Amino acid sequence: MTHKIVTLPGDGIGPEIMTPALELLNTVGEFEFEEHLFGGASIDAHGTALTEEVLAACRQSDAVLLAAVGGPKWDTTDPDAPRPEQGLLGLRKGLGLYANLRPVKPLPALYDASPLRRERIEGTDLLVVRELTGGIYFGEKTRTATSATDVCTYSTEEIERIARTAFNAARTKVSSVDKANVLETSRLWREVVSQLHAREFPHIELEHVLVDNAAMQLIATPADFDVILTENMFGDILSDEAAMITGSIGMLPSASLGDRNPPAAPTNPGLFEPVHGSAPDIAGQGQANPLAMFLSAALLLRHGLGLESEASAVESAVQRALSSGLRTPDLGGDAGTGQATRAVLENLE
Ligand code: NAD
Repeated sequence: MTHKIVTLPGDGIGPEIMTPALELLNTVGEFEFEEHLFGGASIDAHGTALTEEVLAACRQSDAVLLAAVGGPKWDTTDPDAPRPEQGLLGLRKGLGLYANLRPVKPLPALYDASPLRRERIEGTDLLVVRELTGGIYFGEKTRTATSATDVCTYSTEEIERIARTAFNAARTKVSSVDKANVLETSRLWREVVSQLHAREFPHIELEHVLVDNAAMQLIATPADFDVILTENMFGDILSDEAAMITGSIGMLPSASLGDRNPPAAPTNPGLFEPVHGSAPDIAGQGQANPLAMFLSAALLLRHGLGLESEASAVESAVQRALSSGLRTPDLGGDAGTGQATRAVLENLE
């Protein structure tokens, strides 16, 4: 069976890094690609960042590969004007993507690009699993002239499904991050995670870490983490902190996953995209680093389609290309997008 992948190149450098990613995927397997307008490009054509047709096409696919959206052309302070990021939120909601996965694995060839000392980051290979659709970002908000509230709510069901994603992704240990000394939602979080652990994942080590302590440990001893499991707001902050360990935004992939077996519905496809944006400052110059996009394609192969050996092949090719000296301008070199793509393709085994 040929897997069907919906591709959303988006804006800015998006199309420039999507084309090489498809070339790479075509080299490791046989896929059917269906490209659609998304973000600013879709606003220009249809007046909205995500049309119903595109959402329907995504729902019917096996996985969605997205490059980046946005740019000065669509920056607006008019609250009624359509914005490219609305497409991202619409996609997350429309596909029920409640789990955000961000691997952080600084590559040995780039150890010196990190703001942290080499000895600190050596051996770091961690995954942040962030709950994406609940918590304080989505709770009721109130405002008077002199006070404001943001309600944080989590249900056992929401906690259990994201915890299951984390345990399934763990090799040795899950570090569940909360603020159980202060927050009631955190105390429920701890209870539900512990129960699931005892019931289904006793072979994986589980530790509970308070979020303030986790923020310190991420910088002091990042190599001690395997999987970090946490709620929406803590995950938002910790995943950006963890990202800085690698030194360059042009290197980071992400995956957003929904329910694998939702009741009475087909499996929701996952969404795979680089962490960086559309880089309008370098768009159209052939200078974009395609590596985060390639690593996102690797996550699509692994988490979206279950093709582990193909995913590893892509990751190894990226590593080998960097070890043999590949550097795009954001990494201090002068290789363009085309040259970087060739270097990775040549290293694919
Ligand atoms: P950005 O990530 O686009 O760029 C930040 C800096 O990093 C820029 O100097 C850029 O040139 C550089 N950079 C980013 N990706 C790179 C790559 N692959 N290769 C080389 N250099 C790279 O963030 P920004 O400038 O804050 O935002 C630009 C636009 O992107 C905005 O419209 C923003 O809303 C949008 N954005 C989109 C996403 C997304 O699509 N998921 C994420 C973040 C920002």
